[in-house]
Amino acid sequence: MNIAEKRFRRVFNFSSGPGTLPLPVLERARDELLSLDGAGMSVMEMSHRSDKFGEILDSARKGICDLLALTKSYTVLFLQGGATMQFSMVPMNLLRNGDSADYVITGAWGEKAVNETKKFGNVNVVYDDKPGGYRNVPRQDALMFTPHASYIHYTSNETIDGVEFKYDLDGHGVPVVCDASSNILSKPIDIRKYDLIYAGAQKNIGPSGVTVVIVKKELLERVPKGLPALLDYRIFAGYDSMPNTPNTWGIYLVSLVCNWLKEMGGVEKIAVINAEKAKLIYDAIDSSDGFYAGHAERSCRSLMNLTFRLPTPELDEQFCAEAEKNEMSGLRGHRSVGGIRASIYNAFPKEGVERLVEFMSDFASRNR
Ligand code: PMP
Repeated sequence: MNIAEKRFRRVFNFSSGPGTLPLPVLERARDELLSLDGAGMSVMEMSHRSDKFGEILDSARKGICDLLALTKSYTVLFLQGGATMQFSMVPMNLLRNGDSADYVITGAWGEKAVNETKKFGNVNVVYDDKPGGYRNVPRQDALMFTPHASYIHYTSNETIDGVEFKYDLDGHGVPVVCDASSNILSKPIDIRKYDLIYAGAQKNIGPSGVTVVIVKKELLERVPKGLPALLDYRIFAGYDSMPNTPNTWGIYLVSLVCNWLKEMGGVEKIAVINAEKAKLIYDAIDSSDGFYAGHAERSCRSLMNLTFRLPTPELDEQFCAEAEKNEMSGLRGHRSVGGIRASIYNAFPKEGVERLVEFMSDFASRNR
């Protein structure tokens, strides 16, 4: 490979996160790297207190507000520490003394959230599909919440297992907290059902290092006094997400990704495209006479992370190795579960899905 080929080579990147970013966003960021809008410096070299960065922060926040049709009762915060830090921040800020928090576990990330929350107080697990192998999500009417729970937590899309809620969970008066790291902005949601949504940016919103937290302002009233400043939602809300230096580069990319998504037609339009892309792969699985076996129950198959297996782990490995040679990377399932995982977030191009489907058919015919 010569230097130009090395520099401009793009493969179909099925990584679960950090995942593929929209090409126009990368190109724009590249073009603005030396001088952002004539400022004579890149966003990474600019004071976070400058007017220019203030505009970028406003634009990123407005992007999220517009795309999710947030009302004035919500505020958008940009934090660091990943979604994992939210596993701790949520109970630290919202779990009232003596109360318990209800958790719905549909995969590995929900389980981690529970383990972290237990360090801070009482957890009531109202649903746990671990014995079933994390293939399912509960129906709304099968969930019984504790009447005075501080909140209910669930993971709208389990990235490792590939199971996704097809409805917005209703807390019937108990605040709903949702880890939407891997399907935020992939479809319209009924925002009224949510009291707090958090998401690491590195799948559908931007690069790693920024966490978006959307929180109902009234929920901030219960944040206890005396939390460490950088673990306190109220402080972030009071300081416009900047009690200290934020991830300026990350927030800049979030603003570009939101603008890209708006130009694409917003979440309504991307939801249609996402459903079409996922259908192509699920159809390939279902028409393979069992050569490919999908992991999730059909009714809760993720449109973002599509998980399946071949007849043997050796074939899984061979599939990934051959795919890599065909310009498709990142298809290995998470190290804890194996198999194959195709992550096809908003920015993943349909041509890449078509390439994978063609490859699946060819691979099956050669290895049955
Ligand atoms: N929750 C979900 C649903 C995730 O997919 C991930 C990361 N893959 C996390 C939490 C943890 O995110 P982070 O690495 O940003 O802490």
